[in-house]
Amino acid sequence: MVDPTHPRHTANHRPTVSFELMPPRRPDAAPNFWETARRLVAVQPDFVSVTYGAGGGDRATARQVVATLLAGTPVLPIAHLTCVGASREDVSEVIDDFLEAGVRAFLALRGDPPKDQPDWRPPVDGVHSADELVRLLREVESARAAADPSSALRGAAHPLSIAVATFPDGNPAAGTTRAQEVQRLLAKQSAGASFAITQLFYEADSYIQFVAEARAAGVTIPILAGLLPTTEPRRLRRVEELTGVVAPPDLLDALDALPDAEAQHEYGIARSVELARAVLDAGAPGLHVYTFNKHRPALDLLAGIGLLERTEQPASVLTPGAV
Ligand SMILES: Cc1cc2nc3c(=O)[nH]c(=O)nc-3n(C[C@H](O)[C@H](O)[C@H](O)COP(=O)(O)OP(=O)(O)OC[C@H]3O[C@@H](n4cnc5c(N)ncnc54)[C@H](O)[C@@H]3O)c2cc1C
Repeated sequence: MVDPTHPRHTANHRPTVSFELMPPRRPDAAPNFWETARRLVAVQPDFVSVTYGAGGGDRATARQVVATLLAGTPVLPIAHLTCVGASREDVSEVIDDFLEAGVRAFLALRGDPPKDQPDWRPPVDGVHSADELVRLLREVESARAAADPSSALRGAAHPLSIAVATFPDGNPAAGTTRAQEVQRLLAKQSAGASFAITQLFYEADSYIQFVAEARAAGVTIPILAGLLPTTEPRRLRRVEELTGVVAPPDLLDALDALPDAEAQHEYGIARSVELARAVLDAGAPGLHVYTFNKHRPALDLLAGIGLLERTEQPASVLTPGAV
């Protein structure tokens, strides 16, 4: 039944649109990366988040990508930051570097332990979880403000925004359940998180039930739905290996049965549009698209739900640095 008071059915409701980008791993991947970034920035997303060190990638490249987006585009870049395995001093230095470069939005993450070292233990003086990282971000920001009145004023004019990750079906990599992730999210909120972005999921109920349980437990921050356009069976299988999030067998079977990549694209977009509509209808404040550095699936998904009716920016807005 349509609820006329639901935000989705009121005149001014416009869900947020945002994208995740992964810094290019090799210099020869940079031109394609920047072409994707340019096309995504052109639709004026609310923000673009840039991964950090995921899968062993180069962290300096992540910093450069964030700096280029900041300097060369009107979009708000959100810098992912991981902490597991690094000392408190090292993480504080990285935070200070980002703040010095003018970055005001972060996604605070624990990060995954190295997969190839079974006996690996985090350093004793390390930052061990996302909530500790949120606290450290706020501490470093406060120290900068206390040391310099100009930094204090800039901070007052542009307050830090700190997002955190959350896992609607539990986090298979960490062996946690949904109920435990609700408690993790409460801890992240208490530490000072501004909003949460979900891990990808395939059933609307995963998001809807998680949000209901989180709200009942006292989570009040916005919970943004993270979606992967389901256009490539190979990608879904790879994502399962990386995250432990299992794609529904009927989706994989349907994609595998199609004759070519174009037919898979059409089918996958139709399934993703259905999922996106369901979570928006249930009250999701927006959509965060896991792009894997491909613009077409991301933009076709948003077009399919009518979220691309924004004025496009001139394409020349992005002038990438030497990444
Ligand atoms: C939206 C989003 C963006 C992401 N971006 C990145 C990125 O840019 N770079 C990157 O490296 N990763 C990224 N990840 C992956 C993320 O870092 C891992 O899933 C991480 O394991 C959990 O992150 P967290 O911050 O929620 O952990 P927390 O909630 O802080 O973890 C809490 C506790 O769970 C346990 N735990 C958590 N993860 C593991 C694990 N893998 N193995 C064993 N125990 C564990 C530990 O006991 C830990 O203290 C992203 C995930 C999401 C959902």
